[in-house]
Amino acid sequence: MKQLICALGAFALSAFPAIAQKTATDKPPLEVEVLRTSAGSLYSNVALIKGEHKAVLVDPPFTMADAHRAVAMVLDSGRELETIFVTHDHPDHFFAMEVLTDAFPNAKVVAHPVVVADIWRSLPFKVKRWSPMLGANGPKTPTAPAALDGDSFMLEGHELKVIGPMQGDHVHATALYAPDIDALFAGDLLYNEMYLWFGEHGRKEIRDWGKAIDELAALNTELVVAGHSKPGLANDPSSLAYSRGYIDFWLEASRKAKNSEDLRAMIMEQYPDSIDVLGDFLLGNSSKVTMGEEPRWTE
Ligand SMILES: [Zn+2]
Repeated sequence: MKQLICALGAFALSAFPAIAQKTATDKPPLEVEVLRTSAGSLYSNVALIKGEHKAVLVDPPFTMADAHRAVAMVLDSGRELETIFVTHDHPDHFFAMEVLTDAFPNAKVVAHPVVVADIWRSLPFKVKRWSPMLGANGPKTPTAPAALDGDSFMLEGHELKVIGPMQGDHVHATALYAPDIDALFAGDLLYNEMYLWFGEHGRKEIRDWGKAIDELAALNTELVVAGHSKPGLANDPSSLAYSRGYIDFWLEASRKAKNSEDLRAMIMEQYPDSIDVLGDFLLGNSSKVTMGEEPRWTE
């Protein structure tokens, strides 16, 4: 009987040589780990994409404390940090990168060239705005990534594709797509159960953000890491449905609202479980800008 099973096994392999060969030489799949940062870093998500020996980190956090937590995640992974990718020019996605580059000096910090230009232009202004609030938890030597050459880079033979720049919570938002593992690292093109930032948007920009989400949804990825999530949520496509629905509701509600107070009340009623950061930074400023009670933020 044992001989028969062995014989069948040999037949199976020789009958399907292509399958046997693919299994033998296939690259081990990438794995993903996500650090949920603290309220101080506005609940941003820091993703670690892990190969067999090397790793890519997406979006260093805002505060030094959370950057140390990101260093711990990399050290615990046992991987060598090869690349740090920055999705866009908002300080909660790159500010404390010096903690990571000090710990892993061989890691290359990269972003789309448009994002790099945005960061260099706005960095002095950002340091002035945020340093007093951050105090010792803010970076000492904030800097910008290097410009990526091309629209993708590799991790141990797996392609990571940069999508965008497109309109998100920033006019030049990018995402990272790992087709081999059906994973999307959406940066601030997606939020989950948090109020969306419309402080830099007119109605057209809000509509364009919705269209960008439709493009991301068409990728049909199983794993979706939003730029910001309420603590405790999974990294799944629910952030696509949440952000898209929120944009549609906002456009509709802001047409009916008399003023920002009115708009805020409608949003809070529709999204009773969603959360804000820094007091009412997201919803407070976004509703005032949409209702014309506060000028649009430029950076
Ligand atoms: Zn953000």
